[in-house]
Amino acid sequence: MRSVSILGATGSIGESAYDLLKRSRGADRWRVVALTGGANIRRLAEMARSLRAEIAVTAYPDRLAELRDALAGTGIESAAGPAAIVEAADRPADWTLSAIVGAAGLPPGLRVLERGGTLALANKETLVAAGRLIMGTAARSGARILPVDSEHSAIFQALGSENLETVESVTITASGGAFRDWPMERLATATVAEASTHPNWDMGQRITIDSASMFNKALEIIETREFFGIDPTKIKVLVHPESIIHAMVSHIDGGSLAHLGAPDMRHAIGYALHWPARADLPVARLDLAALGGLTFRAPDEIRWPALRLAREAMDAGGAAGAVLNAAKEQALDDFIAGRLRFPEMSQAVEATLESLNGRDGFTKSPSDLATVLDWDKEARQFAARWATGSK
Ligand code: NDP
Ligand code: MG
Repeated sequence: MRSVSILGATGSIGESAYDLLKRSRGADRWRVVALTGGANIRRLAEMARSLRAEIAVTAYPDRLAELRDALAGTGIESAAGPAAIVEAADRPADWTLSAIVGAAGLPPGLRVLERGGTLALANKETLVAAGRLIMGTAARSGARILPVDSEHSAIFQALGSENLETVESVTITASGGAFRDWPMERLATATVAEASTHPNWDMGQRITIDSASMFNKALEIIETREFFGIDPTKIKVLVHPESIIHAMVSHIDGGSLAHLGAPDMRHAIGYALHWPARADLPVARLDLAALGGLTFRAPDEIRWPALRLAREAMDAGGAAGAVLNAAKEQALDDFIAGRLRFPEMSQAVEATLESLNGRDGFTKSPSDLATVLDWDKEARQFAARWATGSK
């Protein structure tokens, strides 16, 4: 029997993982250790009961009583707060899915790696903010990280056991998000509701808006660099509106291996869950004849400044990933709250990167969690001030 934990169980990725666990043949072979969530207490308790979890944890201490009530009589433990989530991540489990949204996913993910566990990583922010710390910790403890982001799962699968030295480039695709075909002038009028729809993927609101701004792809370029250790100049982005090809690995002999699949995260989650085996997964099969064609176009860095900012952050190195990620999270909060217009998000991130770039220690990659969190806080404060000052 394998033991599993899901951090961020009540989210879009968490729900897909739950679905896989419930449906997989011989569901009894999973022993669920910890499930964590945020505000959705009802769903967290429901999942914990249905999977007979050991413990359920909410991020919010003021919701603990409610969680306790919802689990009364079940024997399932409950806890609350960020530290309790880290403790839950510390409980031995063979496989832990990191599916919390934002930098809040970093401390519990890091704890899994410190204890030498297997971390299935959907939370890309972890690698963007703290790539060196994360990869270094895993290398020291012997922990394994399995990518869950669809592009990175695709690269991982297309690479197989191939030698990185023969890789000429890695291409990750982008649907282009909600505003792919909008005239540029219209972007300033984009509403939160308009940015929260995605042409192909059904995801949490934050990553959906990040897809429209291309910040999701910006994070993924950095994630590719940190996880695979590929030189930034070899990482390419291709706009592919159908989201069928997720990534492609091209070798020096002119051969390229692409990974194709329906846009359903249960493939990448299930691949990581069963790795190194492959399992029959409840994912729609491709019918390319019915699709008729796949289309591609070059990304436009004027329309999507986030792509340029990712390159600049990789060139700058040091704390730039932590700063870019945190400034982006703050700018997204400000857009959702109506304090920034859509194109101003990338302006806020750029201003934050420029301003913090000169600070002491910026050029040094943070080697401990406290330093990452310090940069994260500085960046959020700067970006928040920028948002109010720009009006
Ligand atoms: P959701 O917003 O749908 O879910 C986020 C989860 O994290 C929920 O369980 C939420 O709880 C919980 N949560 C929110 N805030 C906190 C916090 N401060 N501390 C602890 N837990 C918190 O996000 P997604 O599932 O869309 O995305 C999760 C991660 O996976 C992100 O890093 C995203 O970039 C990545 N990812 C997502 C994909 C997708 O298809 N959705 C694809 C590839 C990567 P509650 O809802 O109960 O408040
Ligand atoms: Mg992705």
